[in-house]
Amino acid sequence: MSLGKQKDSFLYLLLLILLIAAPGIYFRILNEEWNTMLLNVLCTFCLFLLPIYIFKNHVQKYAWLLLPVFLLGTINIACIYFYKMPINDGIIIVAINTNKDEFMELAAGFILPFLLMATAYLSLYFFCRQKVPKQIATKQATILSSASLIIILFLPIFDNADYGYFQKLRARFYTTFPTSFLYSVGVVYKQYQVMHAAADERAKFTFNAKQTINIKGEQVYILVVGESDRRDHWNLFGYKRNTTPRINNQQNIIAFNNIHTDGYLTEFAVPILLTGVAPENFMDHIKQKSIISAFKEAGFSTYWVSNQTDFGHISIHAAEADEQFHFLADGNNIKNINDDIELLQPIKEILSRKDSKKLIIVKLQGSHYDYSKRYPIGYDIFKPSNKTIKTAANDYTQKEVIINTYDNTVLYTDYVLDSMIQILQSRNTTSALLYVSDHGEDLFDDARNLSQHAAPIPSRYIAPVPMFIWYSSHLKKQSPATIDWLIKNREKKGSSTNVFFTLNQLSGIHFSGLDSSQSFASSRYTEKPRFILGGDFKIFSSDSLQ
Ligand SMILES: [Zn+2]
Repeated sequence: MSLGKQKDSFLYLLLLILLIAAPGIYFRILNEEWNTMLLNVLCTFCLFLLPIYIFKNHVQKYAWLLLPVFLLGTINIACIYFYKMPINDGIIIVAINTNKDEFMELAAGFILPFLLMATAYLSLYFFCRQKVPKQIATKQATILSSASLIIILFLPIFDNADYGYFQKLRARFYTTFPTSFLYSVGVVYKQYQVMHAAADERAKFTFNAKQTINIKGEQVYILVVGESDRRDHWNLFGYKRNTTPRINNQQNIIAFNNIHTDGYLTEFAVPILLTGVAPENFMDHIKQKSIISAFKEAGFSTYWVSNQTDFGHISIHAAEADEQFHFLADGNNIKNINDDIELLQPIKEILSRKDSKKLIIVKLQGSHYDYSKRYPIGYDIFKPSNKTIKTAANDYTQKEVIINTYDNTVLYTDYVLDSMIQILQSRNTTSALLYVSDHGEDLFDDARNLSQHAAPIPSRYIAPVPMFIWYSSHLKKQSPATIDWLIKNREKKGSSTNVFFTLNQLSGIHFSGLDSSQSFASSRYTEKPRFILGGDFKIFSSDSLQ
């Protein structure tokens, strides 16, 4: 082979590496991260040219070995398109927690574009791969490998970050595909390892909780955790459309109008509101039990009723319940999707049992995308919606249709919650229902045109969530001061963490670690700075999100 030809074919190897870096380049340009983009591209080239000395006589074999990177690359491109970020630990957690049906709903509009993109991307790989040289001269290979090593070692010097050399070196690989993928898998694996490791500590944990008020007859407390439900789309909290006609008409509702979520993913937000750990100490939740066990210790039967597949961080606390009812997770369930109203059936069944003290935790599917699948046609009030017009989840040109559909999910949640309250009302005993959403949702609110809830940095539309407490007249008679304090504190700043303390106190449960300054039901309630756990376990001030 002539030198000229060898040079030409070597260019195809460089082109292959450029293809690996391309999705990252696109993402960084979109997010105006020029400095990171240039350093990452350099890092990608050095990373893949570093072993060239070893493969100097087998360059085509080396190119074959890159095939898995390209296969993973198609997923990475899909993540950038769909989640607006490269594949990371947050996406992996969501992927693990998503069952086949949820995935199919999510992927429905994307299968054809994905196949076209993957075919094009892999065709480019195969085209370039067959043109790479068979071998590279020892001298050139030595220069390429050593230069790559030297550049890699010098990369941290160009990094403006405020930490040490080796941390900067590691960070470069954490943010560069495909080492970023290995890093994310490692993070998720470590999480599950930690959860397993803390199992003994969790098992030994006790609140020493007792119910200190003496209540005769039945007591039922229901904690309903919503899904992707935004406070500013509730008429009860001032939204222009009447999305909450039933709750608006309910008596004995205390609406809390300044609550933020502490975690932008379900997997973060739910454990926080169940255990009361602060988002900055999120991993502490795995060492302790949740409100379910506090109620158990105080003599309550406890139930977990879920319309979502709960996994990892959530499932360790669901497992504390005496009994669990799962819909999506139930492999025997022949229906693909359950409307949230179907959760009433296990709730009625639980209430028909003889035990007099019950705590029921309910996890809704609520307003999770695909919005049009969350409610029956009778609730298709705001039109046109995705019931009739199919759109991609992130198609901002169809913003109006998607928001109409979203508002119909809120209207339906209003119906589901009202139905639960009616069941409690009909029993005429001591009862309360606390509703709070796990987190908000992006709905193309500004020029960023964000959708759903997976932007790399949580937006200010993710944080505010609706929360209210409905209480029975019996409860008001039993604990008038508690109800009064809930009403007095309803305008105050609060977050998911407060749910744990508030619900315990509302039901008269006490233990030494119950911090009443975090309970809305207390005269001692104190506002605190709020934080939100974002992707990669980063903490953001939730009052200063953009
Ligand atoms: Zn969620």
